[in-house]
Amino acid sequence: VERTLSIIKPDAVADNVIGKIYTRFEDAGLKVVAAKMMLLSEEKAGGFYAEHKERPFFSELVEFMTSGPVLVQVLEGEGAIAQNRDIMGATNPADAAPGTIRADFAKEVSRNAVHGSDSAASAAREISYFFSESEIF
Ligand code: ATP
Ligand code: MG
Repeated sequence: VERTLSIIKPDAVADNVIGKIYTRFEDAGLKVVAAKMMLLSEEKAGGFYAEHKERPFFSELVEFMTSGPVLVQVLEGEGAIAQNRDIMGATNPADAAPGTIRADFAKEVSRNAVHGSDSAASAAREISYFFSESEIF
């Protein structure tokens, strides 16, 4: 089975839709095998999104990701990485297919409710960025 790293971002935590998003995971056959709520430091958020360091939206992204608590989880299931990206929908909620998490719970590209690993390599890096093997069940 495959694992992927998911983050429920500050906008969705503030909007009180954690449970609704967890239901989307469960209905898609994804199992939560690790989870923690945390307030990211600038350093932790910047390191997580290091691949975007040179992008014009980087400082806005880090500011948003540190603006309130996030819920970080590891999801496990058949094809979990692609499956999670499917149910998240497009990065910009305006382009996200109806019924996806971003279409239903996000308003803007810069506040788009959820993160999901985009490849096996990023899933491995991102899972170990937040969890030790003993914290994953
Ligand atoms: P994530 O990595 O958060 O799952 P993603 O893989 O769909 O999102 P990326 O290209 O990795 O999209 O961008 C990372 C994040 O940066 C996006 O989720 C979004 O919040 C923000 N972002 C991307 N493009 C823009 C933009 N044009 N303006 C503002 N923010 C942006
Ligand atoms: Mg990404």
